[in-house]
Amino acid sequence: MSEVLRLAIQSKGRLSEDSIQIIKECGIKMNNGVSKLTSSSYNFPIELLFLRDDDIPDYVADGVADIGIVGENVAVEKGKNIDYIKKLGFSKCRLSLAVPKSVEYKSSKYFDGKKIATSYPKILSDYLNSESINAEIHEISGSVEIAPGIGLADGICDIVSSGSTLISNGLKEVEVIFKSEAVMIGYQDISSAKKAILDQLIFRIESVQNGKINKYILLNAPNEAIDEIIKILPGMKSPTVLPLAQEGWSSIHSAIKEDEFWERIEKLKKAGAQGILVVPIEKMIL
Ligand code: ATP
Ligand code: MG
Repeated sequence: MSEVLRLAIQSKGRLSEDSIQIIKECGIKMNNGVSKLTSSSYNFPIELLFLRDDDIPDYVADGVADIGIVGENVAVEKGKNIDYIKKLGFSKCRLSLAVPKSVEYKSSKYFDGKKIATSYPKILSDYLNSESINAEIHEISGSVEIAPGIGLADGICDIVSSGSTLISNGLKEVEVIFKSEAVMIGYQDISSAKKAILDQLIFRIESVQNGKINKYILLNAPNEAIDEIIKILPGMKSPTVLPLAQEGWSSIHSAIKEDEFWERIEKLKKAGAQGILVVPIEKMIL
């Protein structure tokens, strides 16, 4: 029997859609099976397991799943004996300390002797230790933001993205203690056959990620401007230069990082570039 890589993803929640999207962008097609718990592919040796995100680090540590996708916050909080394979760039959020907005907050020393409600006791206690703060951690599994209002705690440590949940509960964010994004984690004793499948999967994911951060750029320029324009365009190796039908003009093609594009566009125009086109790249193999 040939090997299949088992990937655990969140069944329903903030990570689910983007996790499935990554698999799709890698050209992996899933069978529409009857099972809601697993799904197999007909063109790549992978099987998806749909689980609660909190359970994924344990399944991966035990090797029930070979790899998994979770928030770094969950990986660090629950994860023992797992490999960190790759950051995936979505579900970005932070774990922060927050206090009632009436509190005059000066420094983290405020929390000395206080009670903090959280669903992340490990990350919080690591932070408190590193800051030499003595506080009592009150672990609750959900609706942490209501704890100060009902007198359960003096402050909270919870996930923040926009901060609107805090504000609507009369709280303010005072310290960011952990930054998170989705990560791929892996079983530490993965077999070499499965590792080979994993390497193929990572190669595809990286090609898609490189495609996303790069754009394909085409522009026209008079031949005497080509040298200067090539200096402005980094390119994968070196830009492609093709003659135009119009005598003395060329078309220059290259790839450029999106975040470098805006700062270079002015320079390109000054150097004589015209008819600049920037188009998305679906995949990029370096
Ligand atoms: P489950 O029922 O599977 O246990 P959950 O309620 O624990 O789900 P979600 O709210 O779906 O989890 O969040 C999953 C992960 O998404 C979090 O662990 C965190 O890494 C990230 N996340 C949480 N809130 C946000 C947010 N507002 N913006 C971006 N990412 C977030
Ligand atoms: Mg959860």
